[in-house]
Amino acid sequence: AKADGRGCFRFFEPAMDADVRLQREFEFELREALVRQEFEIHYQPIVDIATARPCAVEALVRWRHPHHGLIPPDKFIPVAEEIGLIIPLGEWILGAACRTAVAWPDDIRLAVNLSAVQFRSGTLVDVVRSALRSSGLPATRLELEITESVLLQKDQDSIAVLHELAGLGVRIVLDDFGTGYSSLSYLQLFPFSKIKIDKSFVAEMSSRSDCAAIVSTIINLAKALDMGTTAEGVETQEQAELLRAAGCREAQGWLFGRPGPPSALVLDRPAEPAQ
Ligand code: C2E
Ligand code: CA
Ligand code: CA
Ligand code: CA
Repeated sequence: AKADGRGCFRFFEPAMDADVRLQREFEFELREALVRQEFEIHYQPIVDIATARPCAVEALVRWRHPHHGLIPPDKFIPVAEEIGLIIPLGEWILGAACRTAVAWPDDIRLAVNLSAVQFRSGTLVDVVRSALRSSGLPATRLELEITESVLLQKDQDSIAVLHELAGLGVRIVLDDFGTGYSSLSYLQLFPFSKIKIDKSFVAEMSSRSDCAAIVSTIINLAKALDMGTTAEGVETQEQAELLRAAGCREAQGWLFGRPGPPSALVLDRPAEPAQ
């Protein structure tokens, strides 16, 4: 801090002042966005790799900003977590996605991402239970995707919440597998239904034999633990073929469909006869 002419102290340099103001403004707009219903959910198919038919759909949130257009989640989810907004936002996402998914063919599951912050809220189990009840979506059609950050402290409360969620009948999926620390030990903490292989491994699989080895090791490990695998970020036919040959069951990526509004989702099923 340095003295300014009036005997006060300035604690921030002008540049930092502007940064802080921008940050506060962004947080304010983000809170307002929930009230103004500026969030929308895009949906991306997850396919059975052998048939390329959808078996699930992942809900991915976006912010339709009135001036800046469509803002991707990486730009605002971390801030929403910092200011606690992820709790009401996450509740809205879960409810809205369940209401959308209930209209899909009943062999198509819905996958929803959960933040570690939602696990510490103390209300997550009730939020999930009420989203299922009010939408009418069967629990067995819901997959909840979590990352290692939920398990990071080997936090007994979060593990207990995971068991309660599984008790409702929903499936718990470990997302971004292989990107964090000591991933292998996390697999013993909870009986996950499925592991998602991070797209960074898939991207390098055809050019680097070490990445291909990691991918096939993850797939075999999952099998040994009676868990399924979904490969993320599958962009080429070659990647899909390598994954299929390595025993991976499900895949998600631009090769099979990009995330889009619910109206753009093609679930590749014969249309229901008109009522
Ligand atoms: P994620 O859960 O790992 O989601 C997969 C990301 O990969 C998505 O990015 C998706 O659009 C992208 N992707 C899918 N196929 C391909 C592909 O073939 N190539 C490449 N390069 N990318 C592909 P997106 O939608 O930008 O989401 C980023 C992250 O934001 C998500 O990563 C997730 O961690 C977070 N996120 C998204 N929606 C939610 C949400 O509703 N709640 C929470 N808590 N987090 C969310
Ligand atoms: Ca995910
Ligand atoms: Ca992921
Ligand atoms: Ca990710």
